[in-house]
Amino acid sequence: MNTTDIINHDKQDYFPVFARYDIVLDHGDGAYLYDTDGKAYLDYLAGIAVNVVGHNYQPLVDAIAKQAAKMIHCSNLYYTEVQAEAAAKLKALSGMDKVFFANSGAEANEGALKLARKYATAKNPEKVQIITALHSFHGRTLATLTATGQEKYHQGSGPLPGGCDYVPFSDIEAIKAKINDKTCAVMLEAIQGEGGVHVPEPNYLKEVKALCEKHDALLIIDEIQAGMGGTGKFFGYEHFGIQPDIVTLAKGLAGGVPIGAFLSTAKLADTFHAGDHGSTFGGNPLACADANAVLTAITTEHLMDNAAAVGNYLLDQLKTLQQKYPTLITDVRGKGLMVGMELTKPGRDIVNDCLTKGLIINCTAGNVLRFVPPLIITNKDVDTLITILNEVLPSYAA
Ligand SMILES: *Cc1c(COP(=O)(O)O)cnc(C)c1O
Repeated sequence: MNTTDIINHDKQDYFPVFARYDIVLDHGDGAYLYDTDGKAYLDYLAGIAVNVVGHNYQPLVDAIAKQAAKMIHCSNLYYTEVQAEAAAKLKALSGMDKVFFANSGAEANEGALKLARKYATAKNPEKVQIITALHSFHGRTLATLTATGQEKYHQGSGPLPGGCDYVPFSDIEAIKAKINDKTCAVMLEAIQGEGGVHVPEPNYLKEVKALCEKHDALLIIDEIQAGMGGTGKFFGYEHFGIQPDIVTLAKGLAGGVPIGAFLSTAKLADTFHAGDHGSTFGGNPLACADANAVLTAITTEHLMDNAAAVGNYLLDQLKTLQQKYPTLITDVRGKGLMVGMELTKPGRDIVNDCLTKGLIINCTAGNVLRFVPPLIITNKDVDTLITILNEVLPSYAA
């Protein structure tokens, strides 16, 4: 199939749920992707914070090949060395006590919510309320869709599971007004991703944690986007000095191979028993071997330090752009290599113009350009981004 055939086939055959851009990607290398015509694109999206070690990172490619040749899958009815190793690695990085592997972010959150409900309802059958934030994103399954505080995603999917209440993000008074002794859990992203890259007030998560303790509610932090080192620390919540009860991961965990995970502190260790939760694929040998390669890379290649350093440079450079185009750019915010740039107008055309110039960026929440590149990028890759933005933005700033 040539490029046009591929696009036409997809348009005919695939559910049109993605507002796709008109390029066909073929392969990648480091921080670059290449389309079927061989055109190069500097990748500031990384498959939405997934390709944390970049494209075709050799140790990950080797781990995939080695494990595929050995054993792709068995069943969670048996032990495997790679799963034991992945769980131990995650525990060491997180200070959490128990680990479960799923296949995606939504599934990780779904499991986390089940764990929280089981823990809370054992104390009081009415302790079911889940509080989440407006503009959050937690996934597309019915329960995680419900947890997602964005009405547009709910439409047509009802009836949704009950028990969920929403509050504005980074507004402690709003949580105070909703939380009570029937609250099972508060579930938040440490830094909101899909909702527009929102960093909470410095004390917000600490105050939420204290409120949770007061009402014996659990704090679930969804680290599916902010986790895996992109913010300069392994988890986004580490910037705010808290310890959640449950943490979820997915996206970057196996560098592009599907995987998800939820982790809990020791206090929930005895909540799930044999049969209470499960997954056919979750944490299978292939996915765990790949997660091990990624987790090793993050520590041995100092990717968190790189994300922090290059992230600071990126933030500075984007703030300079903001000064240059004040009528177009209203805010630049983020931590490390998880950065958003808010515009006074929709960003999709800008994304398209960047694509033409060999740069992949993303627009979320309509008018926020989101930069979540691989953690291996360098200051030179920031300079390339800024050069292209300087070519594209003037026609929008007029
Ligand atoms: C992407 C994302 C999810 C959903 O992950 P999927 O793998 O698409 O199910 C959940 N929470 C956050 C914060 C995310 O960014």
